[in-house]
Amino acid sequence: MRDFSYLRATSVDAARQAAALPGAMLLAGGTTLIDLAKCGVAEPDSLVDITHLKGLDTIEIDERGAVIGALARMSHVADHAGIKGGFPAVSEALWQAASAQLRNMATVGGNLMQRTRCPYFRDPSNFAACNKREPGSGCSAIGGVTRGHAVLGTSESCIATYPGDLVTALVAFDAVVHLGERRVLVDDFFLLPGTTPQKEHAIEPGEMITAIEIPGSAAARRSTYVKVRDRQSYEFAAASAAGGGGGGGGGG
Ligand SMILES: Cc1cc2nc3c(=O)[nH]c(=O)nc-3n(C[C@H](O)[C@H](O)[C@H](O)COP(=O)(O)OP(=O)(O)OC[C@H]3O[C@@H](n4cnc5c(N)ncnc54)[C@H](O)[C@@H]3O)c2cc1C
Ligand code: SF4
Repeated sequence: MRDFSYLRATSVDAARQAAALPGAMLLAGGTTLIDLAKCGVAEPDSLVDITHLKGLDTIEIDERGAVIGALARMSHVADHAGIKGGFPAVSEALWQAASAQLRNMATVGGNLMQRTRCPYFRDPSNFAACNKREPGSGCSAIGGVTRGHAVLGTSESCIATYPGDLVTALVAFDAVVHLGERRVLVDDFFLLPGTTPQKEHAIEPGEMITAIEIPGSAAARRSTYVKVRDRQSYEFAAASAAGGGGGGGGGG
């Protein structure tokens, strides 16, 4: 892990400006970014700590739906009465993600931005070829061990999966990512690999996730989340699905 500078942002605008500089990265709970820095995948020159920004950890619920601040902790969202009542699939997806310690530390904004668990991607010292890490270098997974890789949404450049649980439930109920003033449907926020697997999200330098909005609906109120995995706890999904009854909604 190489040296980096640390800046504690005092406003969303300051955080966006600092994170737009080359080599800068936002730091929220740090539960995945620090891992990526340790294994040499993330090599930030500076970390912009956003965890002290005020007003980004709230959960607001009204008749239109829920607006969850990007800094809300996974455990807080999972256990929120309004989320459990209005969006059970969201609560269940979060409860089944990671471990209690991680959920207490990790934010929903960071959860959306987590990167693939493809073992070749996370092991640069042994596998130089990874188009997601080094565009144009090839793909060590294709022709390698691919248990845990994707069967849908692949390309000739990359067959990695996206590992998060929350997003499955968000896609099912047409959630929207707030990037400050800009709004992007969750479905459009995540990009297929195509020929540019290094570009995973529809987010530009100088933007950050400020909130996630989930429209309320009868389907969302009667929803559930199903996760299939190798063991029943502390494991990423082999496959997952979210769906609701009584007026549409479903996905996986
Ligand atoms: C052992 C282990 C098991 C796990 N199991 C699961 C699992 O089963 N299911 C699951 O869903 N997840 C799982 N995770 C992933 C975990 O949920 C993520 O590590 C966590 O959600 C990331 O949130 P964070 O706040 O810590 O993000 P950070 O580590 O701080 O940041 C992650 C990334 O997001 C960026 N970022 C952070 N906040 C913002 C923002 N507001 N706007 C734009 N970019 C931002 C950062 O720059 C960084 O690139 C697991 C993680 C570990 C370590
Ligand atoms: S599947 Fe994608 S992330 Fe994994 S080695 Fe290939 S290019 Fe890299």
